[in-house]
Amino acid sequence: MRKHIVAGNWKMNNDLAATAGLITDLKRKVNNGDAEVIIAPTYINLHSAFESLSDSNITVAAQNMHQAKSGAYTGEISAAMLKSVGVNTVILGHSERRAYFNEGDELLTEKVNAALENEMRVIFCFGEELEDRKAGNQEEVVESQLKNALFHLDASAWSSIVLAYEPVWAIGTGETASPEQAQDMHAFIRKTVAETYNEEVAENVTILYGGSVKPGNAKEIFGKPDVDGGLIGGASLKADDFFEIVNAFA
Ligand code: PGA
Repeated sequence: MRKHIVAGNWKMNNDLAATAGLITDLKRKVNNGDAEVIIAPTYINLHSAFESLSDSNITVAAQNMHQAKSGAYTGEISAAMLKSVGVNTVILGHSERRAYFNEGDELLTEKVNAALENEMRVIFCFGEELEDRKAGNQEEVVESQLKNALFHLDASAWSSIVLAYEPVWAIGTGETASPEQAQDMHAFIRKTVAETYNEEVAENVTILYGGSVKPGNAKEIFGKPDVDGGLIGGASLKADDFFEIVNAFA
């Protein structure tokens, strides 16, 4: 059985005090539900988050990392640095990184490789833009994003990969893919992985949906057979909302 995951991408929100406050609230509400719960605070708060969560089963992830081992890359953070503060999971390829920081397939391939070399788990984000969906090209776009950044990997590396399908038109817009649209794409993704690798890899890979998941729609979206959880932005910033979403698996 593949793993269910609900991950909160806090983006550039919550300073040190707000991070501590939200974590206190989350720990109070945490239950041993069916899904692994992950939070991704900003770099600067990863260490404190990891320490405060050491007595809980909530996992801490980074929102990004640099692909180089170390060196003259002012302002950047390496995989080894993340690991040194207890962070073993990293989100890569988020649409905001792609759009505002020019992260494309080639760079993302390097980042994925660097993360895996450092034995990290990757939550790899991808998804089509509105114009692709309108033109009916969403499957081609998604397939090429996967092919260009992930399909060079050996089948064995896929135990460290979590996929996060996030249609760009649904991120932070209040517009959600319908449960059927999410299911159709997730089934397509799983089929593409099966054709590229094999059924076992495809059946075992966790595929998250992201884009305006809220307490009111989580249950229906997570109820679809190929949707194994969510990557949650806005609604992960409130403990009550986030745990209602986590409990959608209960
Ligand atoms: P949203 O963000 O839930 O606020 O739409 C999702 C994401 O960017 O991962």
